[in-house]
Amino acid sequence: MPKNIIAANWKMNNDEYASKTLTYDFLKLLNGQNNHSTLKLLCVPYPYLSLIDNMCKGNESVKVGAQNCSSYERGAFTGEVSTEMLKSLGIEYVIIGHSERREFFSEDNKTLHDKVELSLANKITPIFCCGETLDVRNKGTHKDFVLSQLQETIYNLSADDFSKVIIAYEPIWAIGSGMTASVDDIQEMHSAIRSSIKTNYGSAISRNTSILYGGSVKPINAKDIFDLEDVNGGLIGGASLVANDFFDIVNSIS
Ligand code: PEP
Repeated sequence: MPKNIIAANWKMNNDEYASKTLTYDFLKLLNGQNNHSTLKLLCVPYPYLSLIDNMCKGNESVKVGAQNCSSYERGAFTGEVSTEMLKSLGIEYVIIGHSERREFFSEDNKTLHDKVELSLANKITPIFCCGETLDVRNKGTHKDFVLSQLQETIYNLSADDFSKVIIAYEPIWAIGSGMTASVDDIQEMHSAIRSSIKTNYGSAISRNTSILYGGSVKPINAKDIFDLEDVNGGLIGGASLVANDFFDIVNSIS
């Protein structure tokens, strides 16, 4: 069975005080109604990793993740944060290949592949993002586009390594735009991803891989999305910055 996961991507929002308040409010809402079978991940800016991680200690189903990592192991790379550093802080999850990293920081498939390898080498689970632009979708080549993103990155991994990866399908045109893909569009892509995993790694790994959906998930549409056969949770941007909304989204998964 794939694990159900709801991951918050705070992006570059909130100062330290607001981050603490958001976490406190979310944990307070969770208290007493904790759905232990769903992993709740808070992917927070680097400076707050330890702070938020400490606040979440004691709640087994809430973990903290990073939003990025370096594609280099260590050395003279000013401003970079290595997977080794994340590991030393006890961080177990990292988002890799978010479309904002690909678009604004020119991260290509080779760089992303290196990041995935380094994170796995440091026992950090990558949440690997893929997704097409509106232009690609309008051309009708979205499935080929997304599958080739996977082919050039995580499908190079050994079966053992691949089985540790979480995939997040995020159509770029639906991120932060208020436009959500239709449930049919989401299921179509998730099912295409799952069958391509089966082709590359066999049915057991394909069945057990968590494939998350991201792109304007809100309390109002979360349940319909999470009920889809091949959706195992979500990567949540804007709505994860409001404790009540994120809590409602967490409670939308059964
Ligand atoms: C994201 O950035 O990963 C995301 C899904 O954002 P939003 O929920 O705001 O569309």
